[in-house]
Amino acid sequence: MSAVPRFAPPPEPIVFAPDPHAELPATAEVVVVGAGMVGASAAYRLALAGMRPLVIDANAPASGASGRLAGMALAGLGGHFPRVTKLVQRAGGRSILDYTMRSLDLLEELQGVLPGGVDWDRTGSLDLFTTEADEAHGRRMATIQAAEGLEVEIIGPDRLGELAPGVDLGQVRSAKWTPRDGQLHPIHLVYALLAAARARGASVVTGVRVEKVLVQSGRMAGVATSHGEVSSGAVLLATNAWTPVLVPHIGANLTPIREHVCVTEPIPPILGPGFETNQCNEYWRQLRTGEVLIGGFSVADREMGIGSYAMDVAPAVPPLLAGLLGRLHPAAADARIVRCWTGLLDFASLEIPMMGRLPAEDGTPVPGGYLACGLTGHGLPYAAIMGLLLAELISEGEAQTLSLAPFDPARYVGTQHEPTWLEPFTGAHPAI
Ligand SMILES: Cc1cc2nc3c(=O)[nH]c(=O)nc-3n(C[C@H](O)[C@H](O)[C@H](O)COP(=O)(O)OP(=O)(O)OC[C@H]3O[C@@H](n4cnc5c(N)ncnc54)[C@H](O)[C@@H]3O)c2cc1C
Repeated sequence: MSAVPRFAPPPEPIVFAPDPHAELPATAEVVVVGAGMVGASAAYRLALAGMRPLVIDANAPASGASGRLAGMALAGLGGHFPRVTKLVQRAGGRSILDYTMRSLDLLEELQGVLPGGVDWDRTGSLDLFTTEADEAHGRRMATIQAAEGLEVEIIGPDRLGELAPGVDLGQVRSAKWTPRDGQLHPIHLVYALLAAARARGASVVTGVRVEKVLVQSGRMAGVATSHGEVSSGAVLLATNAWTPVLVPHIGANLTPIREHVCVTEPIPPILGPGFETNQCNEYWRQLRTGEVLIGGFSVADREMGIGSYAMDVAPAVPPLLAGLLGRLHPAAADARIVRCWTGLLDFASLEIPMMGRLPAEDGTPVPGGYLACGLTGHGLPYAAIMGLLLAELISEGEAQTLSLAPFDPARYVGTQHEPTWLEPFTGAHPAI
């Protein structure tokens, strides 16, 4: 590990295999770059609003982070909650929960509305405390979250034994139970949203990389791609950690962080109703088909995964993930890990995402330009609500359901904020 982690590495364009048969129109009413959960959610809402979005992705839909996540939706945003809430309130909002809880409700709605559903289950989640310091921090966090209106409860061994009968109570002191959290199949989510958008007039083109955003006379004019130009007066960039290639002036405040997920062979049910986390540093959930997904341990990755666009698996991480699962759930101690992968998180330096009008280099908005990145490890509590708000902004000129003001990307232009997210990576508990 180097002494000084690289928080803002030189941007790297996404690796892709160009599709020689991709058919790109010369013009589009609105271009959405990126077919992850954010781009797909925005495209779906734009199509519902009567627009005809053109979605462009360098690779297959959900080939970025949206096909690599664990699939847990935490309205309380793990350790980011207090700092993001403060920023929302400073910008005139009430609470980040207005957004994240709404997002989870929208995911539940989508389960009923999208053909085939998205495997949504409102199972709740358990944050397990194994040390005195974890427990003290978790209690403080629960108090702050409850004060904002999150349904959350600290539970002792008796109730924990009921909710998670497979947990080794010799290892866990207590837990935070958040009954309204949920989980889903993220790849189903992206494909179902895109299918529904297509059914309403959207088109999706893959194997095409956007190389540049075209601005003429200070207004959005379209995109230059590996396959030629598309003219459009409206462009939304939903390009995760690869965004700084297209918008270099937010790059100092958007850090790629590599994260691992491993999957066990199918095993009999070991979890209670919900998924489980360890201060969100590590997290695991069991699929309906029996496999357990377990992710985290960035701390054991090269440079803690910070500043990395590389997608290889660090050999040190899978054994640690398997060991943690087996320690807390003895029934999983012999479960074989059958697959591992990595994906890129896009951490915004102040932890609050960049959602709204695309800022020019001087911070003023580029008319017709829109930005959606910096989800800081929590795609699901943001994707559904932000897709809706961005579609309102694009189609009606203003977000209607909730204000996007707290997420104005302009706060990230012209200055390099010291990242507020570093401490959990070092194992320390940030002051709250
Ligand atoms: C290992 C891991 C575990 C996670 N676990 C969870 C979890 O359990 N719960 C949770 O809420 N969040 C989780 N996250 C975070 C979540 O996955 C992300 O926040 C979310 O998927 C981001 O969605 P997105 O649409 O912004 O980005 P992506 O899904 O990465 O989509 C961006 C798309 O843009 C495309 N693209 C980029 N640049 C260009 C270009 N120049 N031209 C064309 N296309 C381009 C990419 O190909 C990609 O498809 C996890 C992330 C990782 C990596």
